[in-house]
Amino acid sequence: MTPITTPVRTRIAPSPTGFLHLGTARTALFSWAYARHHGGQFVLRIEDTDVARSTQDSVDQILAAMQWLGLEYDEGPIYQMQRLARYNEVIEQMIAAGTAYRCYCTPQELDAMKAGQEARGEKRRYDGTWRPEAGKVLPAVPEGVKPVVRFKNPIDGDVSWVDLCKGTITINNREIDDLIIQRTDGVPTYNFAVVIDDWDMKISHVFRGDEHVNNTPWQINIFNALGAPLPAFGHVPVILGDDGQKLSKRRGAVSVTAYEENGYLPEAMLNYLSRLGWSHGDDELFSREQLVSWFDGSHLSKSPAQWDPAKLEWVNSHYIKQADDTRLSALVAAQLAKRGISADLGRLPAMCALFKDRCATTVVLADWLAMYFAPAQPTAEDLAGHVSDAVKPALATLAAKLVDAEWNKTGIQAAIKETITAHSLKMPQLAIPVRVLVCGRAQTPSLDAVLELFDKENVVERLRCA
Ligand code: GLU
Repeated sequence: MTPITTPVRTRIAPSPTGFLHLGTARTALFSWAYARHHGGQFVLRIEDTDVARSTQDSVDQILAAMQWLGLEYDEGPIYQMQRLARYNEVIEQMIAAGTAYRCYCTPQELDAMKAGQEARGEKRRYDGTWRPEAGKVLPAVPEGVKPVVRFKNPIDGDVSWVDLCKGTITINNREIDDLIIQRTDGVPTYNFAVVIDDWDMKISHVFRGDEHVNNTPWQINIFNALGAPLPAFGHVPVILGDDGQKLSKRRGAVSVTAYEENGYLPEAMLNYLSRLGWSHGDDELFSREQLVSWFDGSHLSKSPAQWDPAKLEWVNSHYIKQADDTRLSALVAAQLAKRGISADLGRLPAMCALFKDRCATTVVLADWLAMYFAPAQPTAEDLAGHVSDAVKPALATLAAKLVDAEWNKTGIQAAIKETITAHSLKMPQLAIPVRVLVCGRAQTPSLDAVLELFDKENVVERLRCA
């Protein structure tokens, strides 16, 4: 069957059994960008047939993460559990057409089949007991056994497709057996529901993680049995952690939401994720618009991508520097609120502007800006090392001068200069203790600029604590 190419319709089909995983987010991103590039549509489908593990909370988290990343979908969310009648209809049609059949093997019989195959060193597969063939007499239907429905997979020939990521993949039908497409409880299995949905939803291009490569031959055979047009498939290579192992919960954050909470910007995540398994020359930093204009399905990688936290930080720093200060203020205020610090938004944009160049995340920015809204917390080491008895008289002078100073950079700078002259100090001899007392750190951006954003009373009070 010739693959359909237009109009382009892609989808992401997460199972709501947890948060939006980085791998799924990357697949969603590729699917979205490909649809946008071609002026097509992007569909969100919720694959909730694993009833025991699917939760509304996961659906909500997935939707929130998609929204955060700005992956707007044109249709959906479509829930598979609301489409059971449609799956049943197709199952009945397939049984009538002889491309699917009821299998009454009990779990015990299947276990015995498996044990026998293992003992003989054979590959584990369904032995075809209930598979109808011309001239074959099937066993009598046993009482009280609820059947599953199996797909009658072709016995001979190859299944072959040109994968958008991996190139040509060919599997011999002898490698695969008669898959269960409907369980005894009437719920379809993944490989069946996915085909009916991709067909009904007119999906032209399926991007998904390469853990599904082994499922695709079955799916292609089911498409063919239904006379349905085949989508193109792109199996995106796995993302490995920096230890070379598959990303997993045990190896750090794997949910998109965790990155939002940890102070990453969505445009940075989008930019970074898109480079995992795809490239456009040497470009590392680019906008959504550029991504969409470049993402034409070429330059998809065959090999696994490497998760690189340092590079993600670098990308995030870039977007933090570029971000509007009012927007950053809201993000920082939310971070501070989590620490029980309520920030007055008034001067927050100016604070963000002053500090954002040195911050990789809004969490780090909040670490800096907390000093404006909560007591400074100098370490005992910094206090002992920098706030010596010798400098205390100068600190008292500065405090007194600041009381009368005009509260801007010029006024603050003048008070500092007069103080170092009066006490015959060099600038760092005064500036460092001031930083430690007021900011809780020995290093900050230019002192007058940092102090100007405090309330004068606050600075004076912290200096007088020396
Ligand atoms: N629900 C499947 C998953 O989350 C979807 C796979 C597919 O895209 O076909 O892995």
